[in-house]
Amino acid sequence: MATYGPSERTSLAGDGHEQVTVTRRSPATAGGQLTEELLETDSWTEAMVREAGIPIVKVPFVSIGGGIGAFVTVDYLRIAGVAPDRMRVLSNLDFPWQTYEYLTRVSQIPRGERIRSDSASRPDNIWGFPSYALAEAVRDRTLRPLWQVLVEPIWDDYYTPKAGQVFAGLEREAKRIGYQQMVVQGQVRMVRRCRGGGYFTILTPPSADAPTQDAPTQRVAYQSQFVHLAVGYPGLRFLPELQEFRTKQQDFYHVVSAYEDHEHVYEFARAKPAVIMLRGGGIVSSRILQRLMDDRENLGLSTDIVHLFRTYISGAHGPNAWSRRKGGDGFAYQGFNYPKSVWGGQLKARMRKLEGDQRAAAYKLMGGTNTPRRRSWQAQMRTGRENGWYRTMSGTVDQMMLRDGKVVSQVKTPQGIVDVSADFVIDCTGLEADIAEHRVLADLLEHCGAGRNPLGRLDVERTFELRGSASGAGVIYASGATTLGGYFPGVDTFLGLQIAAQEITDDLARRGFCPRIGPLRSTRQWLRWASGREP
Ligand SMILES: Cc1cc2nc3c(=O)[nH]c(=O)nc-3n(C[C@H](O)[C@H](O)[C@H](O)COP(=O)(O)OP(=O)(O)OC[C@H]3O[C@@H](n4cnc5c(N)ncnc54)[C@H](O)[C@@H]3O)c2cc1C
Repeated sequence: MATYGPSERTSLAGDGHEQVTVTRRSPATAGGQLTEELLETDSWTEAMVREAGIPIVKVPFVSIGGGIGAFVTVDYLRIAGVAPDRMRVLSNLDFPWQTYEYLTRVSQIPRGERIRSDSASRPDNIWGFPSYALAEAVRDRTLRPLWQVLVEPIWDDYYTPKAGQVFAGLEREAKRIGYQQMVVQGQVRMVRRCRGGGYFTILTPPSADAPTQDAPTQRVAYQSQFVHLAVGYPGLRFLPELQEFRTKQQDFYHVVSAYEDHEHVYEFARAKPAVIMLRGGGIVSSRILQRLMDDRENLGLSTDIVHLFRTYISGAHGPNAWSRRKGGDGFAYQGFNYPKSVWGGQLKARMRKLEGDQRAAAYKLMGGTNTPRRRSWQAQMRTGRENGWYRTMSGTVDQMMLRDGKVVSQVKTPQGIVDVSADFVIDCTGLEADIAEHRVLADLLEHCGAGRNPLGRLDVERTFELRGSASGAGVIYASGATTLGGYFPGVDTFLGLQIAAQEITDDLARRGFCPRIGPLRSTRQWLRWASGREP
């Protein structure tokens, strides 16, 4: 991890081409706060930054976020031959899968459960070989995973790896590529253009780590030619009536999001018979439903579940025979969040050519809320329907109120208004906040020329360059959920983040930052990966 003491000068030059330098901060200007001049100016000079008492660290490539998107990008670059001291990952996370592990755990995919993506989507292995199924078969000495990938999805469900297997692989790869060496902890505040080319990325270090000699440094500026943004979800958003209920009642107990820790709901249902209302028809609602049904079955509980769908799917749907999607009992069924050819087939090629409204319409057609049709879930739901403890409804909620310790939702159904009383409401709609609610993204939109794509997120080129934000020879790249709506729909998935990382690496190779990963390098690097040697 880089240090940024106020009176230090460090040279971390690795390959003799570029240097990472921490400049000395003048005691007269100690403080390191953002000045009015900096805040109001779109492009800065080194002098302006130094004047503010902000130390400058020079490094060619900076990645912001430090989640899985940042990890796979630096993984690609390490495999392409970039030394760790030429890159910095600015992050508020301790390890790359931290946010992902939190979100999966609270939405009921703990380490021992299986995630959604397939056998070859390996964020710790750019080749996807050996696949998770093969690795699991060898580790557990069983042919079952191999049989499953052979017959999926006709005679069995899609094989998907356990969350714990994904995390163990990421941990191994992080060690192999020297990931922690590149991480600098802190909160990124903004990215601004540097006059003459490149960017300044302002980082607020965690206060405990701030140097105490002279005066604490409030900010550090990372000056780089390239910036990569992978900040994940800009924030959570609740449906308006859920938000109103929580704000008005100041009640965060009865109405919860599936993306919040809500273990108290399952504990309550263990202690006494409970009615739980679920909202949403995606995979997260399937997971929560599975947990409630498993607890009911394993612990002999008498939980009643009311599942409300805004759009109730009663059968196969779609504009024509070729693009029909299966559905039933409220759910739209699809193995993965998009059709598979989005990651490498016809749809990927077609989407690259679409602009504006045509692209937005294509997203609408193939995306939308959906969940895989897993045989075990089907059997549990069937039992629930037959025994009357699992009921589905179609409608929207007008109002929610607290009555005698229960949440009453006024549901507008095709048959009229129905009051549904429940002990808890779990919101599984997974709405995301607007990108402008993220401070760094809002600043990029306002000061760095970034724009929005047809779905309102960051507008990126096919190479994942953030359109409109070039600075001399400098480029900002963005990948992940903030770029959904671009030429490549699968961005917020492991494989999608890897495809973005590959495009970014190829673009950086064209710009002379790193060698291209050609067949020879790829083969040599795979052998190093397989034997656990550093790239
Ligand atoms: C419940 C759930 C299940 C999923 N299952 C799958 C699956 O099975 N397969 C699959 O392929 N994909 C799955 N996904 C998608 C998955 O989240 C993404 O593939 C991936 O985790 C996104 O990586 P990211 O780097 O873009 O975001 P993250 O992993 O969230 O990392 C971004 C991080 O950046 C940090 N950050 C943000 N702003 C700043 C700042 N200003 N300064 C410093 N740090 C900052 C935050 O800590 C943030 O978490 C799932 C997602 C969810 C929510």
